Amino acid sequence: MSVIHLLQAELELTGPGAVAAPEAHTVGSVLHPDLPLARDGWGKPYVPGTSLAGSLRQQAPKDRRRALFGDVFKDADANDRNGREATTAIASPVRVLGTRLTVPEPSSMRRLRTAVDRHRAAAKATTLHSRELLPPGTELTLWLRIDTETTTSPVVDEVIELLGRWRPRIGGGRTTGYGRAELITVRHRIIDLSTPDGLRHWLTVGGPGLVDDQAALVYERAQQAGGAPDEPYLFGRALEFRISDALHVGSGTFAERPGRRTDIAQILRDHEDSPVVPGSTWKGILRARVEFILRSVGIGDVCVSVRDDASGSCGACVVCEAFGWTEPPGTAASDGEPSQTVGARGRFLFADSPIRDGSVRVRNHVAIDRVFGGARDQALYAEEVVEDGHLALHLRHDGAVPDVLRAALVLALADLADGTIGVGGGTTRGYGTLAAQPATSDWLTAERATALQTLRASRSDWPPAPAPSTEEVPA
Ligand SMILES: [Zn+2]
Repeated sequence: MSVIHLLQAELELTGPGAVAAPEAHTVGSVLHPDLPLARDGWGKPYVPGTSLAGSLRQQAPKDRRRALFGDVFKDADANDRNGREATTAIASPVRVLGTRLTVPEPSSMRRLRTAVDRHRAAAKATTLHSRELLPPGTELTLWLRIDTETTTSPVVDEVIELLGRWRPRIGGGRTTGYGRAELITVRHRIIDLSTPDGLRHWLTVGGPGLVDDQAALVYERAQQAGGAPDEPYLFGRALEFRISDALHVGSGTFAERPGRRTDIAQILRDHEDSPVVPGSTWKGILRARVEFILRSVGIGDVCVSVRDDASGSCGACVVCEAFGWTEPPGTAASDGEPSQTVGARGRFLFADSPIRDGSVRVRNHVAIDRVFGGARDQALYAEEVVEDGHLALHLRHDGAVPDVLRAALVLALADLADGTIGVGGGTTRGYGTLAAQPATSDWLTAERATALQTLRASRSDWPPAPAPSTEEVPA
């Protein structure tokens, strides 16, 4: 171990990042979000090195993960004292030394989320929660250390190559577009402890200063055409829509006028101040519609993921598999022990959709007095809406998607383009209706026929016919 290789990787968040603090599962308040960012002892946002190591490990080929990043596993060949399979741990030759975040102003953003009531097609009570996010543009530095015998090492080259192909995803909320990042640079500093220079550098310099100007630049984003590789589009393209009338995706905040707060409910905006439909909204409405379609045609045993009795997602049906699922809060196994499963991440990845060329207006509403008729006192309210404008749905996937599910998703999108379902708040007041742009409309028309065929074909052989029993030969 006479040569130390230090790798310094700089990343930039291209979308909001959600790195929740482990102590976050408490009830939030106006001042404290339910899911605050992880912070260090000085109150600065912080990304644990393990979060990045996990992302990098995931990217490595399966047969190299154990060799590069170590593992803890049940060893079938070795037995412990009691004759059971022993747990073996292999240390990782790649060590994560630490991370550092550089957050642009404002230092964090907040996003509210809620669940959709499948019957009322409106937000479900008591499901609103807020999440604190790292803004896009946040820079993150990661330091890795690999010790070898010689100044050239295949392991170091392999890790550098791996970093170059890395699609870093940081923190949670990946399926709703959080945590997307790009690698900017990788620097490689070799410290050879058998030389006086190397030894002096190692002994006299500490911390980030160890990667100095003698480090070689082994990766630079500008050299790569088109930036970091992305997950493939599910339908091979982004789907384009325009707003038919107006749309309101609330941010949960009220507009400020100098000196006072108004009663105008604001729309959600991204870091560039564009109105935005967040990935979580797309995911919520499309999941609800896909569940509805599959249940209506009687395919599979599809669960109702949002239900009043808090039974939640089943974790076993096709929809849970593709959209992900969580254990409902407070679930306990029959023996009273807390459940061991925590859910699974979905395969569909929904990104935020900024709305282009829309105009933001304030609309006034008043509630009607059901007894006396006419406007009710004190019931005037106002909200911001986006009129006109267009937006694109970026739906990607990182796993195989069953044909039935793809078909149901096409029909759900056709329903969206027909105005059967809407996006955001006030859909019962005519808000949130979208229309497909010409290219998307043509594509939907063509795909719709195939989708109906797929569902019809699956219906006849669903559930799979049981193998005929030898005892019961039909007469
Ligand atoms: Zn399910």
